[in-house]
Amino acid sequence: MTFDPARQIQDYLVFGEYGDVNPSICDSATYTFLSADQMDERFTHDIEGCFLYSRHWNPSTKYLADALARMEDGEAAQVMASGMAAISVALLQLCSGGDEIVAGRTIYGGTYALLKNLLPRFGITTRFVDLLDAAAVRAAITPKTRVLYCESISNPLLEVADLPALSRIAREHGLQLVVDNTFSPLILSPLRLGADVVVYSMTKFINGTNDCVAGSVVASHDFIARLCDINGGASMLLGPVLDSIRAANLLKNLHSLHIRMVKHGENAMYLAGQLQQAGLCVHYPGLATHPQHALLVQMMNRGFGFGGIVAVDVGTHATAKQLMMRMQEKKVGYLAVSLGYFKTLFSSPGQSTSSEMPAEERHRIGLGDGLVRFSVGLDNDIEHTWAVIKACLQEVGIPLDGPPAQ
Ligand SMILES: *Cc1c(COP(=O)(O)O)cnc(C)c1O
Repeated sequence: MTFDPARQIQDYLVFGEYGDVNPSICDSATYTFLSADQMDERFTHDIEGCFLYSRHWNPSTKYLADALARMEDGEAAQVMASGMAAISVALLQLCSGGDEIVAGRTIYGGTYALLKNLLPRFGITTRFVDLLDAAAVRAAITPKTRVLYCESISNPLLEVADLPALSRIAREHGLQLVVDNTFSPLILSPLRLGADVVVYSMTKFINGTNDCVAGSVVASHDFIARLCDINGGASMLLGPVLDSIRAANLLKNLHSLHIRMVKHGENAMYLAGQLQQAGLCVHYPGLATHPQHALLVQMMNRGFGFGGIVAVDVGTHATAKQLMMRMQEKKVGYLAVSLGYFKTLFSSPGQSTSSEMPAEERHRIGLGDGLVRFSVGLDNDIEHTWAVIKACLQEVGIPLDGPPAQ
């Protein structure tokens, strides 16, 4: 039977202490020990289901972490206060001063800045490569490399990483493959495709309501235990853990993720098709013309669509700004960063979420100043939405002259 990540979540049945179907929120930072001996024991051994302090584990964060581990078909997970916290602690757990990382060059701007500017201060340096070029990936690996880092579907250009191929390269060189799967929860299960560690910004699709910032790391029991180790764990000692109330809310939203992903995907597919038909340069992995469309079809879990993000190049930054203003006025959605929200969000990555990247580098990777990234919402009538977008495109003078002649 094929793997169904949504079923994995559905089958995660937990009861609270009163049989509550939404387990009681554990609103506590610390826990009593019924005997002093018990306290000694708990600080010496990691005992599953025993809690000592909420920077370590909290029942509410543990429920969410366990559900995420099931979704990914992984052994264990930990939840964090942001996606950046999840990425930072995972990398700091894996790398020490002197170590190197090989990372994709089209990654989220915050991750790029972490790798490029912050980690070098601690002696951890990164080589950025085109992950679609296996020879370039191999050439960037040195005896000091510890981690191969990628986004399964990259931000904002929506390049799809060949996870099985990257995993083979990682194995050959004894590296850990760390995959940011923020754009494609349920659609891709990176651990099943050879990743060692999966990280998420749960701020996006997983939560879906844009009311908090959160992240997670899913990996082996051993890795999660190391992250939470009271003597050397990056999560335990840097401390970016998620609050229990947020964790409880996220767990409830996780149970509707499959329905939301399907709707985001249907709507995005429709808009991408229409934008392409209108003659615009569109990036969407669901389109047959996307360079890694076939690869994604090969790797993906069935039935969750191709994701909710569409990027379209409208030429210049001035045009992109006019278009976004017009679309906000016409209630297509919000001119805002972030993604995975029930309403449509649009932003121009070159000037926002990828602005950490120098303009020269952005242009080299094909991230034009006129790129507009849509996080397509859960609109009930996407044909109406398209009619409004089309009018906005025309009003700002973008020619809609059909697909280029063959
Ligand atoms: C938003 C995002 C992050 C960072 O997550 P936060 O929750 O904002 O810290 C990391 N990776 C990707 C792909 C993202 O879109």
